[in-house]
Amino acid sequence: MFFAVITLFPEMFEAITAYGISGRAAKRDLIQMHCINPRDFATGNYKRVDERPFGGGPGMVMMAEPLAQAIQHAKQLAQKAGAANVPVVYMSPQGQTLHEHAVQQFVEYDGLIVLCGRYEGVDERVNAIIDEEISIGDYVLTGGELPAMVLVDCLSRFVPGVLGSSESAEDESHSNGLLEY
Ligand code: SAM
Repeated sequence: MFFAVITLFPEMFEAITAYGISGRAAKRDLIQMHCINPRDFATGNYKRVDERPFGGGPGMVMMAEPLAQAIQHAKQLAQKAGAANVPVVYMSPQGQTLHEHAVQQFVEYDGLIVLCGRYEGVDERVNAIIDEEISIGDYVLTGGELPAMVLVDCLSRFVPGVLGSSESAEDESHSNGLLEY
């Protein structure tokens, strides 16, 4: 399964690609993990990626233009990898709360482009290129990286070959509305 994560902190994703079951899956290319830093698409001497909200309001948000370009780049990578059906998901405390049913629906896709917010979130104009907003729970974290890792980790367990023959994602807790025995 193809994953492109848009993040200001790509190093954090070593937690997924270097350790445990997901790390093994990445090494075997069962999950392809690309990290794209919007700062690489920022302009100016300081490569700024934050600005005041376009529509007003407190704090700073992630600028629309570098995010739009990073998402465009992610789509090109997906195309090169042969992943056709790859929605853009924004990790957000305002999104639909992630649950097992949604995870199983996401597995039907060839991959996901996952946008990690920072500051007060992303510029409202980015909403036009986001397909879904997903929350990992009713609390607010400092950034979308941990939520993105939660999403990638639980999705990867459903990718064929990721779990060993003695493990199964199908009869785990929550898979049929019940807890495992
Ligand atoms: N101002 C935003 C609000 O009140 O809804 C919160 C922004 S939060 C400080 C920064 C980023 O962390 C968000 O853009 C989002 O990507 C991520 N984030 C925080 N809590 C989250 C949650 N429960 N689920 C998913 N993403 C979350």
